[in-house]
Amino acid sequence: KTSQQEVVSKEWKLEPEHEFRFEVDFGTMVNLKLISGTAEIFGTEIGIGHEYEFSGRKIALFTWHGCTIEIKGTCSVEYVANETPMTSYLNMHIALEQCREAAKSKDEQGPKVMIVGPEDVGKTSLSKLLLSYAIRHGRQPLFINLDSNEGSITMPGTLTATPINHIIDVEEGFGSSATTAPSFSSSFMPMVFYYGYPDPSENVKLYKVLTKKLADNVSRRLVEDEVARVSGIVIDTSGLVDSTGYEIIQHCVDIFNVNIIIVLGHERLYSDMARLYKERNDVNVVKLSKSGGVVNRDNAFRRQAQMRKIREYFYGLPKFELSPCSTLINLNDISIYRVGVGSLAPSSALPIGIDRKVSETQLVKVEPDDTLLHSILAISTANNSDEQSLLVSTVIGFIYVSHVDISKQKMTILSPSPGRLPKQYLIMGSYKWMES
Ligand code: ADP
Repeated sequence: KTSQQEVVSKEWKLEPEHEFRFEVDFGTMVNLKLISGTAEIFGTEIGIGHEYEFSGRKIALFTWHGCTIEIKGTCSVEYVANETPMTSYLNMHIALEQCREAAKSKDEQGPKVMIVGPEDVGKTSLSKLLLSYAIRHGRQPLFINLDSNEGSITMPGTLTATPINHIIDVEEGFGSSATTAPSFSSSFMPMVFYYGYPDPSENVKLYKVLTKKLADNVSRRLVEDEVARVSGIVIDTSGLVDSTGYEIIQHCVDIFNVNIIIVLGHERLYSDMARLYKERNDVNVVKLSKSGGVVNRDNAFRRQAQMRKIREYFYGLPKFELSPCSTLINLNDISIYRVGVGSLAPSSALPIGIDRKVSETQLVKVEPDDTLLHSILAISTANNSDEQSLLVSTVIGFIYVSHVDISKQKMTILSPSPGRLPKQYLIMGSYKWMES
């Protein structure tokens, strides 16, 4: 029934500095082609004549000089806007480039930018744009994702640092398992810590411990890597802007030595940050406006995007498919831990003598049972289960539990690589997934 003729195709002509905004539902496919002129999607230039495919996405295509594009398929939203904050974003980039030039000549560290603001103001999109523009200038900044819910680089629930040394793909964003996620065999960047929860407020103490560890690793990396050192870092954050959010923002400014805080689309947050850092001449607080195009993502959309991210980790993308392996493993060969009694029970329900703060970073052994079913587990690089190693170790990959057989003491897992698990210690967070 879905013959070629039924796919609607439409041309759009955009004037200079206009933006074509479109949304594609999950389960629908839309193709986009640049016919003439120049255009970019969140900072990445798209090529003339190439067909880009989108599904379950909300996107802006911007042109500085004007262009004509062709859209094939049905968008749930499509319109052209002439008012965008793109000039201010470009000016921000130019200012960062000046910092990088200065850093280079003085052999100092490049700009350390942190983007803050509530949810759905375009923080991730601005991160992409600033990173893409930096790449175009031959820079190789590090991208730090502290928005654990999003899983920009790999699985949701992670806190990551990734060197951006290639153009950010317009179809897949920062990437999936195919190009950027850690695989069992690679010990290289990206650096991935598994926090395991969507929201930093779920276990603030653990979040702080892991971000600190990430920041320490990033500092070491910047010492070793001159290109990254001059290029600097861009940090995307979670949308938490209540008092816990403020506490976390300040913690992250300190540990990453942030010197530019960009506040997006939130007057009060801007004025609070400006006041907090008034005395510090090493920290600049800048306000940028939110694009009118940024879309609120409802819970259903977020959930679907999250499930897609998990699926991509194992199966890859249509243009780069992976074949994950289903393996039967002995429960005796592995040890599963989760962090924080505190996140499981309210303080009042904790055993007497266990202080909530302490318990938030306590490792708890998970006795395998049916509740493991459908869980995502992170494979830790740790070689033993004491808190000093397991709690703060990076992870090398993830598995999915597809079947548990307690009587036989076995479980079936889906993993990106065949064979035995490379490590014994697994960390469980709050993420579950259903293979469909
Ligand atoms: P945040 O990181 O602040 O939560 P995002 O950058 O993820 O916000 O943006 C929210 C959603 O809006 C995303 O789906 C993104 O692709 C979309 N979006 C961002 N900027 C635009 C724009 N100018 N036009 C249309 N959609 C946009």
